[in-house]
Amino acid sequence: EFRALVARQSDGGQTVAVERLTEADLPEADVLVDVEYSSFNYKDGLALTGKNRILRNYPIIPGIDLAGVVRSSASERFNAGDHVVLTGWSVGESWSGGFAERARLKSEWLVKLPDGVTSRHAMAIGTAGLTAMLCVMALEKHGVTPGGDVLVTGAAGGVGSVAVRLLSRLGYKVSALTGRRSEEAFLRSLGASAIVDRADYQNPGKPLQAERWQGAVDTAGGALLANVLASTAYGGAVAACGLAAGADLPSSVFPFILRNVALLGVDSVQCPIARREEAWGRLAAELTENDMADAAAVAGLEDLPALAEAILAGQVRGRTIVDVRK
Ligand code: NAP
Repeated sequence: EFRALVARQSDGGQTVAVERLTEADLPEADVLVDVEYSSFNYKDGLALTGKNRILRNYPIIPGIDLAGVVRSSASERFNAGDHVVLTGWSVGESWSGGFAERARLKSEWLVKLPDGVTSRHAMAIGTAGLTAMLCVMALEKHGVTPGGDVLVTGAAGGVGSVAVRLLSRLGYKVSALTGRRSEEAFLRSLGASAIVDRADYQNPGKPLQAERWQGAVDTAGGALLANVLASTAYGGAVAACGLAAGADLPSSVFPFILRNVALLGVDSVQCPIARREEAWGRLAAELTENDMADAAAVAGLEDLPALAEAILAGQVRGRTIVDVRK
């Protein structure tokens, strides 16, 4: 038996509660993992509250991230005792995921953790941190180089806080856009050199504005992303990964056709394994366990329904690690 947070369908909605399950309750696949830690992302907030139809079948264990130790494996790629991390691949959406002490997963989804990276450290990073790194890699590939001014939106959130930390560590001059002025000290501790007020960016603005950013990581979408594009400098790029402000994009073509600005889409869910391995290797090199410990709170399974409401309300700071044994 093991503990799990289980979502079940109920009249016109769903219920979510901690239950005791057995391995027979898990889907069939080639690797069984003893989960040590999971983490809590915006998408988990949507899943637990039943918004955006994230959960595709019931009953299901939500949790889009997990890290732990292989218990048994029918795959040649993994052996019992290997430390692995899983993010995305629709786990925690249509396949039972990380909010449990055990998970059964397809070997092609798993990444071996780089040496020295603990499950806890991996989950302080999680989908949010992986996505932040994929955004940084997209900007680098476009030719955005350290030294320049870059903007991160939703900076005090999960993706945003890791992006601020990474970009500042790599030598960029990072401006952190936030709706929470109260998080200024936190953002400066991550390496932000300036704070930008969300209020200055959230209303529809001119299609071309003063050129401020060589690059940007956007977690917001909506009018906010349109304003980021309009204030990106000639030849710059914006890596877009989120929709915290909205799924629409009320922009014009002017930043693209007059300023050679590039809009780079970033997805972490279907990201190929080689790119994930590269990203995890770089995350391990750039972020110490101490860095992340400062920016991550720890929650237990029973805490998650309330956390779901808080993350959707934009009230969660940085990252949240889930201790599945707590
Ligand atoms: P999070 O921790 O909740 O961070 C989101 C942040 O966005 C909030 O902390 C807040 O930061 C800001 N925000 C909230 N409401 C806003 C609004 N109305 N307008 C503008 N900004 C707002 O969530 P997360 O897990 O980091 O995810 C961030 C976004 O990226 C989500 O939309 C998520 O779905 C997306 N995402 C995408 C991928 C992918 O593969 N493409 C992967 C991970 C996440 P401030 O208080 O600092 O303003």
